[in-house]
Amino acid sequence: MDMCEHHPDRPSVVTVTGETDSFGSEYLYFCEPCFQKHSSAVEKYYAIKRHCDRCSSFAILSCFSDPEDHGICSDICDRCRSKINEGYAEELAYYRSRDNEYYDL
Ligand SMILES: [Zn+2]
Ligand SMILES: [Zn+2]
Repeated sequence: MDMCEHHPDRPSVVTVTGETDSFGSEYLYFCEPCFQKHSSAVEKYYAIKRHCDRCSSFAILSCFSDPEDHGICSDICDRCRSKINEGYAEELAYYRSRDNEYYDL
């Protein structure tokens, strides 16, 4: 049983994925009140406009964990997010079409 980050005497009820770096994910363990606090802090963090990690535009950001970059989390704007999603869709379609060619042989 893992204990709360802030209360060594209280068992944790929630596990949150914290900072992700190239060494893997760090997990945070919270008891119920600490989790409530943590989620409202996260909510507040993303409720304010910040500079996008990718394009530096000033906007409401959301966390994006990039599978091509070891799953490292960055805070990016909606525009960058949809660009990334489009990119992945194109890539997927490309590999699918190549697969089809391959199987047709
Ligand atoms: Zn706690
Ligand atoms: Zn951006």
